Amino acid sequence: MASEKTDAIMIRIVEFSESSCIATMFTRDFGKIGAMVKGARRPKSPFESAIDLLTISRIVFIHKSTDSLDLLTEAKLQRRFRAATRSLPHLYAGYYIAELLDALTHTGDPHPDLYELTQETVIQLDELQDPLSLVVRFELNLLRMIGQKPSFENCTLCGLKVPRQPRIAFGQLSGGVLCGKCRVGQSRVISLSWGVLEAMRLFSVCDTPLPSIDPMVMGELRGVLNNYMANMMGRRPRMQKLLSMLGRPATIRDDALSLLRKAETQTDLRNNTTSTGEMDKDVLNESRFSENN
Ligand SMILES: [Zn+2]
Repeated sequence: MASEKTDAIMIRIVEFSESSCIATMFTRDFGKIGAMVKGARRPKSPFESAIDLLTISRIVFIHKSTDSLDLLTEAKLQRRFRAATRSLPHLYAGYYIAELLDALTHTGDPHPDLYELTQETVIQLDELQDPLSLVVRFELNLLRMIGQKPSFENCTLCGLKVPRQPRIAFGQLSGGVLCGKCRVGQSRVISLSWGVLEAMRLFSVCDTPLPSIDPMVMGELRGVLNNYMANMMGRRPRMQKLLSMLGRPATIRDDALSLLRKAETQTDLRNNTTSTGEMDKDVLNESRFSENN
């Protein structure tokens, strides 16, 4: 059993016993790992605030055999996720990113590029940069890094370049644009504006400043990505509906924030575990994906 050292971002924390918890972390060198944290819940825990959602820490852990949990032995806090106490939209954007990472990466599959992107996104959320733009950029680059990037230019079935036109067919199942010939007979095809495709291209690059996008285009893009991510995960992400509301005009946003607070009482979000409350029913109802052929 080797002792390993790496940087880690906490993406899920589940209580295990009165004093211990199981932490899921996305690490720089080992990808996602799950580790038992003994004594984490004691008042004078040696881990202190390193075991909080989206904290960035330098950790030491004992790598166990494939079928048992690793054991976290040290966690030195590098950066707290301070957005948690300052802004709900940023807090929920952070939770959404943690949920995506947990759902779409495999244990022990290293992705240093994705670690860098996650760390940068968490820091930018902490700096209160635009949460919806940060989420979109994270989603599109996450998809690229795990080999699931949607095709924006060439038909996903025949490979021909799709010419510029006001509306373009986008196959949710084929994972990208479709030419006029190939879209016939396909299910779960939506019609996208050229502006949305352009925005997706701009957000797919992660080493440039965040693009500034027209709110109408952003709303359409959010709808497309909501369905795309749900298809990828096989379920609707828990945080998605709440995030979508935050992108809408202020009055709807105020309603969304009160819904968020209500949801918080039903869902233990700090531990990223769900109870069967109203929120889940809403999410389930919405998970019948829209199909507008
Ligand atoms: Zn085609």
